Amino acid sequence: MSNPLTPLAVIESVASSSPLKARLHATDYPPTVRVALLRQADARTDLSKAGHDFTSGSNDGTIPTLTNNGGAIASGVPVQLLFWGSVWNLASTSPSAGEIATAVQSILAGPFMSGLVQYGIDRSPFRGALVVTLPAPPFQPHTFSDSDVEGMVGTLIDDGVFPEPDEDGGRIMYVVIMPPGTQYEGDPAVGGAHWYFSSGSVVDVDHAWYAWVGNHDIDSMTKVFGHELVEMCTDPEGDGWTVDGQPDGLNEIGDICNKSFNPLNGVLLENYWSQVDAACILPTAYSLKRFMRSKGFDLGKGVRPHVPPNGSVRAVMGIKS
Ligand SMILES: [Zn+2]
Repeated sequence: MSNPLTPLAVIESVASSSPLKARLHATDYPPTVRVALLRQADARTDLSKAGHDFTSGSNDGTIPTLTNNGGAIASGVPVQLLFWGSVWNLASTSPSAGEIATAVQSILAGPFMSGLVQYGIDRSPFRGALVVTLPAPPFQPHTFSDSDVEGMVGTLIDDGVFPEPDEDGGRIMYVVIMPPGTQYEGDPAVGGAHWYFSSGSVVDVDHAWYAWVGNHDIDSMTKVFGHELVEMCTDPEGDGWTVDGQPDGLNEIGDICNKSFNPLNGVLLENYWSQVDAACILPTAYSLKRFMRSKGFDLGKGVRPHVPPNGSVRAVMGIKS
């Protein structure tokens, strides 16, 4: 299916003059890494379902419960792509920065995020894409750690390329796209992660939210992007929405649904957990029913015509008491 969005014609490059700084995880939370394990592509690509949501059971077949821990969530927070390394400026790089940026814009513009309304989250706009040539990505060895990624994003904030998270326009979800030939330190099976780091000064600490997506084929990268996106929105700092009874690091809404993949407007994505559906979902269309249920309406009574005293007819929704 052709993509209705205009691909990015030009992705600007940015080079920082500052050296890469080592940055530490905040100490008020354990430096847990949120992971998305890559799995074999699902054979189910049932296009006959186009226009209807894809649904599946949770990975282990149970119906989990979620807890809102009262901490940070990311509603309507823009997504900034950072393609790390000058290799992204080469036309021969595959998948290309343009392909990935186009897929990300399609994901953000479409119905994918519409199931997050129930968690208090509005869709994220696309903020832009940059190729970051300096600080350079890790070359020797070709492995990277979370703190490498944090160091790069933090350097750009320190240099004023982006505002501090607590400044005007500074609340951003940074998604770093790793270059070919790199893999996650210690565990090449990890396809992506999201977390936060402390930015600003010692007296004015604030938290920058980021994810990284490892370099693989385009399908794997879009699946990981979608997984980290929904988890970063619902639980950017580990104290938002978490799944009860799951181990830390595997207790977010993507983790319990990462066995089901489906195409949406030509982009492969993973399902994520929807509490109001009691299922893993991949919304392919906007559902008024889900939206109303997300807002606490009891659809058991349905929508019924109601004739008010002035005689005009309007629809009234039964509200759960
Ligand atoms: Zn995850």
